[in-house]
Amino acid sequence: MLKISCLVSGGVITNYKCSSKCRHCSYSSSPNWPGDYMTPSMADEIFSILKRLGCHSVHIGGGEPLLKPDGIMGVLQAARRNNMGIEYIETNASWYRDEESAIAVLNELLEHGVHTLLISMDPFHNEYIPFRKVKALIKACSKAGMQVFPWQINFWSEIDAMDDRSTHSPDEYMLLFGQDYLLRLPSRYGLNLKGRALKTYKPMMEKQTYDQILKESRPCRLLSGIYHFHVDLYGGFIPQSCPGFSIPLKELVQGADPEKYRIFYSLESAGIKSFAELARKEYGYTPKAEYAGKCDLCYDIRNYLVLERGLDLPDLKPEGHYKYA
Ligand code: SF4
Repeated sequence: MLKISCLVSGGVITNYKCSSKCRHCSYSSSPNWPGDYMTPSMADEIFSILKRLGCHSVHIGGGEPLLKPDGIMGVLQAARRNNMGIEYIETNASWYRDEESAIAVLNELLEHGVHTLLISMDPFHNEYIPFRKVKALIKACSKAGMQVFPWQINFWSEIDAMDDRSTHSPDEYMLLFGQDYLLRLPSRYGLNLKGRALKTYKPMMEKQTYDQILKESRPCRLLSGIYHFHVDLYGGFIPQSCPGFSIPLKELVQGADPEKYRIFYSLESAGIKSFAELARKEYGYTPKAEYAGKCDLCYDIRNYLVLERGLDLPDLKPEGHYKYA
């Protein structure tokens, strides 16, 4: 059985739609996603299960959770009903229009028990969001009494070296800070090279042969991340390091059937070798000569199953993760 009996700390993904299409996004969020948002009843269900599993506080992320301020208030009310603490809400500041309207939203969040905003600041977000919005939102937070968790503050001086009224591409950063600037970001940022981030960095990654990857195959342990897991708006448990996989949280608590979630199970218990063999034998996948590591092979197979074959597989969800990368 695929089963979870304890979760300590994690987040809920209220929506995948985002105002930006950042190159480092491991969730592949973008404006192209449908505008679905976590409903209050789904939030009630998720929070009550998380409490039973020992998780008493969560952060809220997306997509951009504040694209729909009305939607988030319903989720926050559900958190209060279930005595679930909110550690912070992640935001990219794109929704900032003026100080008065921002403070109105912040006051409403404070009334609903939110005391910290994680505000994104890095060169990837700056490709879509002018830094003046980030600065103005921080100022509004200070006036409203909302704490700010700047993520990540060590990029401040680099972003601030650009004109803060407009957006800036990675090429501009490379011109100013050196051609290897993009290459240095994953370790500085602690990037999870999955989803769109993998697509961005794949051309710069070392290649391995298919046989070599299979030889080094180990279980991926998708259920072991109990400190930074996510549950999305559809009620799916998203493994800590591998978005694009999902099993309904309510099934995982009872014990999910490995036969129903065969792909997840093959990776969890045996690793990429087992998944690649399953894909070859049952779905006609043809391996290439080389890949940028095991996760590139994993994505190549998943893209083949979801996008090329158009299969509706219960563990490869949401499909948008593959469609909008
Ligand atoms: S091979 Fe697949 S399941 Fe395993 S760590 Fe990489 S992306 Fe995750």
